[in-house]
Amino acid sequence: MTENNIEKLDELNFKKIGIDRIGKIGNYFFSIEDKQDSENELIVSFSFAPNNNKSKLFEYFDKLEENNKITEYSLEKSKVNIIYIENDDETIDNFLNNIVNKINEINGKCICSNCENTENLSFYSNGNVYSLLCEKCGTNVINQFEDDKNKANNYVKGFFASLIGALIGSALWIIIGAFGFFASIAGLAISYCAFKGYGIAKGKLSRKGIILNVIAIIIGFLFAQYAVLFIEFMKEFENMNLLGFIQFTPIIFTDFEFIKSLLPDIGLGILFAFLGTYRTIINNYKSAKNAENIKVEKLDL
Ligand SMILES: [Zn+2]
Repeated sequence: MTENNIEKLDELNFKKIGIDRIGKIGNYFFSIEDKQDSENELIVSFSFAPNNNKSKLFEYFDKLEENNKITEYSLEKSKVNIIYIENDDETIDNFLNNIVNKINEINGKCICSNCENTENLSFYSNGNVYSLLCEKCGTNVINQFEDDKNKANNYVKGFFASLIGALIGSALWIIIGAFGFFASIAGLAISYCAFKGYGIAKGKLSRKGIILNVIAIIIGFLFAQYAVLFIEFMKEFENMNLLGFIQFTPIIFTDFEFIKSLLPDIGLGILFAFLGTYRTIINNYKSAKNAENIKVEKLDL
């Protein structure tokens, strides 16, 4: 889009949503975007309610096409798309005003993209996408969106699903650990499975939800470390079984020297768990934060 046209659209109070610029002239709502594969063409769109005189509007477009002002136009369902060729002779506001005059002549109307209503229309947007809706449909969308956001979240169920996921994911850690290795991929498995479990239980990805996942991941990690320790004890002592190990646990964990000997391993384990999980956690945290901030609103144009 030329600087000139951007300026003109700004003057007309058009707003940029994604790659589109949307705005209102008179009673008509337009969206305008750069045609992707073209240097100097714009796609100008508007919604158009069924109209008996639409052929008059199309005759006007035919004339524009003949004069090389537009490349083509089409009507799909109730949406008119025009490929407008930018030129030095006129700015986009002239072009739009001429269209508005023509639509006025045939008493044309925009139409809600969700129902047949042609009155009280506005653009509604959640910041990324937009839609032309009537007051009733717009209010419904806003309420629906807020309801979804405020829906009581079953954190308990989500947490247990996340914990089960983390324990399943810890299996890889235990296997690798049994051979005396650590790997960040095992940490990744724990966090991946935890978030997966949380998602299956339809846990809401809020910041509170992320904290629950992190707790589940830490428990999964501790469980894996404990299991690896058990395997090492089995290798060391012939008669060691799980029950014996569990009974033995309080004794070894109060032995300062023993704890100290574990520290390098635990440190390495935490390092690899961190390397394997922090990306997943950060990414989930970011999308949770975005989701909390998004809201649908009616655009004042
Ligand atoms: Zn509607």
